[in-house]
Amino acid sequence: MNTARPVKKRIRRLVLLGATGTLGTMVLDVLRTTPGKFRLVGMSAGKSLADLLRLARQFQVSRLHLSGQISGDFRKPNKITVWQGEECWNKFFKATQPDLVINCIAGAGGLPATLAVLNAGVPLALANKESLVMAGRLVMKLAAQKQVPIIPVDSEHSAIFQLLQGVPRSQVKNIILTASGGMFLRRPLKEFPDITPAEAVKHPNWKMGQRITVDSGTMANKALEVVEAFYLFGFPPERIKVVINPQSFVHGMVELNDGTILAQISAPDMRDSIRYALNYPTRSSVATPSLFSRKVRLDFEAADKHRFPALSLGYEVIKRGGAAGAVFNAADEEAVRLFLEKKIKFTDIYEIVRLVLRRNKFIRADNLASIKKADQWAREEVGLQAQKIKKL
Ligand code: MG
Repeated sequence: MNTARPVKKRIRRLVLLGATGTLGTMVLDVLRTTPGKFRLVGMSAGKSLADLLRLARQFQVSRLHLSGQISGDFRKPNKITVWQGEECWNKFFKATQPDLVINCIAGAGGLPATLAVLNAGVPLALANKESLVMAGRLVMKLAAQKQVPIIPVDSEHSAIFQLLQGVPRSQVKNIILTASGGMFLRRPLKEFPDITPAEAVKHPNWKMGQRITVDSGTMANKALEVVEAFYLFGFPPERIKVVINPQSFVHGMVELNDGTILAQISAPDMRDSIRYALNYPTRSSVATPSLFSRKVRLDFEAADKHRFPALSLGYEVIKRGGAAGAVFNAADEEAVRLFLEKKIKFTDIYEIVRLVLRRNKFIRADNLASIKKADQWAREEVGLQAQKIKKL
């Protein structure tokens, strides 16, 4: 009889960045269903300190970080410490001593946090794709230097990361990212200029933030993800493919040399890839409802270049290298903002981003300062290009 007591697993110290956003909320959901595995020791938000304090009370977290200026009325309890601004990331991680950080910050603001996590030598679950799009080379170099893993949370990359665990790289021919095709997959092309912001923020399958939902409609999101995959997995661009699966059940595939295709299949729910990243290299024992409890149908089709011209920009960004990723991301973020404010048309998003990307003169992207410069230039350039389009 084995009388040895099971080894008590240490509770892992977790820091959640971007706690008040769509993804951050899902991470908190996952933590509620897996009590005793993680201890949340720090949380961050952009501006909404009142919301962050509410969550801190709920999850008994006493160390907080705020990236931006404080907005709204609030009263900070004495026991809670709040670090403010991106120059404080290092102090925040020193105080929280995490075993793992999950970065769910939306947009370009996620990059300084990613660099600080890696500099602190802490494993990173990365949902902020902009970190890799803007500074993929820098981020991956730092992770290798510090010997810390980056576990992707983006569903397609999580799928490919999972699939690559089981096959030697030498046997992999292509990696395949899936796309839903968004809400305009069947919309007649001639109606594209009339697409309204209200229509473009409603995704048929996924619950996500506004920018990424609009980016699904233009497929700029998939272009960003091609760049993300390039840096994360190190496959050349011609071996990174995109296929549409309108049901969003297949998240990613790996095509082997003998033609076999391995796929990762699950319901479109970001909580699955969050759960995987938090538990890596083991797997959670919390199961999601089986996909096959109902009738399931899987369709695949190629991405139409005329419908989704933005997809090609991802490959262009990889070819251009340097700060092209930072320029692409900033230009798209800014153009989507102008579209949501009804200042430009849906089809202008691609036109403007393409122009700005081609006008880019920023070559170097070897430190945060040079990347920020390129980001800033691109945002201003979008404004100029939008004015030109208006005058036409
Ligand atoms: Mg994705």
